Amino acid sequence: MTVPTVPTIVLNNGVEMPQLGFGVWQITPDDRAAQAVRTAFDAGYRAVDTARIYTNEAGVGRALAESELCRDDVFLTTKLWNNEQGYDSTLRAFDNSLAKLGTDYVDLYLIHWPVPFHGRFTETWRAFEKLYADGRVRAIGVSNFEPDHLQTLLDGASIVPAVNQIEFHPYLQQHALQELHQELGIVTEAWSPLGQGKVLADPAINAIADRLTRSPAQVILRWNIQLGNIVVPKSATESRIRENLALFDFELSESDMAALAGMHRGDRIGQHPNDFIDDF
Ligand code: NAD
Repeated sequence: MTVPTVPTIVLNNGVEMPQLGFGVWQITPDDRAAQAVRTAFDAGYRAVDTARIYTNEAGVGRALAESELCRDDVFLTTKLWNNEQGYDSTLRAFDNSLAKLGTDYVDLYLIHWPVPFHGRFTETWRAFEKLYADGRVRAIGVSNFEPDHLQTLLDGASIVPAVNQIEFHPYLQQHALQELHQELGIVTEAWSPLGQGKVLADPAINAIADRLTRSPAQVILRWNIQLGNIVVPKSATESRIRENLALFDFELSESDMAALAGMHRGDRIGQHPNDFIDDF
């Protein structure tokens, strides 16, 4: 069976990252994650977005080990959890993630949340820069960083993050961050692109989907592709896993893009990054 080819985005260090990846948050335990990732690989996904806190890195690693794909065919992202921030603790956490994933490098390593309350993301970033210099990660980035966190990080950094993975969907379009990312050469990666399912009932999105004979999820994901974002939808259902990848044989018109741009309401699903200090 032929599988769709996902376009890549060139990150600020020249590394190419697939524009669409498979998100695995809440797909546990490891067996279930391995099964979902196998299905995603069969469908044509070549990027997986996991994190230490998702407790399924071993399942992702198992799917990779058992697949016919080579390690280099797959773009693996994982993230450092909040209670692991700090220089030495980051290096230890990275080793643990690698062991679970069963690989000797990660394509993209992200600081999961800034947790400004702890004030440790700058020293954490120094450890990320070391992992990058040592060739153990192909790119380093952040997640849930607000403009002021990015500015503080850059004051003490020698490497500009390649990616900022942020909550982004039609109801939360993150205009200030989009502008700053553009200026700094940081790629926006959208998490919860479907608003965890909550945006899918939107009547205007459904009207566009009906007209194009596509699903609301496909319209939202295609919108991200045309905006130049990287996007990581999650599903554990095979038909939806495939549906979420079938984005590369249609286009949204300028007026559809404008209609989606007009849907911003400032509605968050997750917490504001300044308030999120959960470190389990
Ligand atoms: P999502 O917006 O991708 O929505 C997922 C839910 O939408 C599914 O559980 C399912 O109920 C539904 N769905 C998916 N495809 C569908 C389809 N085609 N039709 C109908 N319903 C469909 O939400 P998410 O899981 O929160 O986010 C995606 C990924 O983003 C995560 O798996 C994770 O990798 C990443 N993420 C990162 C952070 C972070 O802090 N960095 C936070 C949340 C999520």
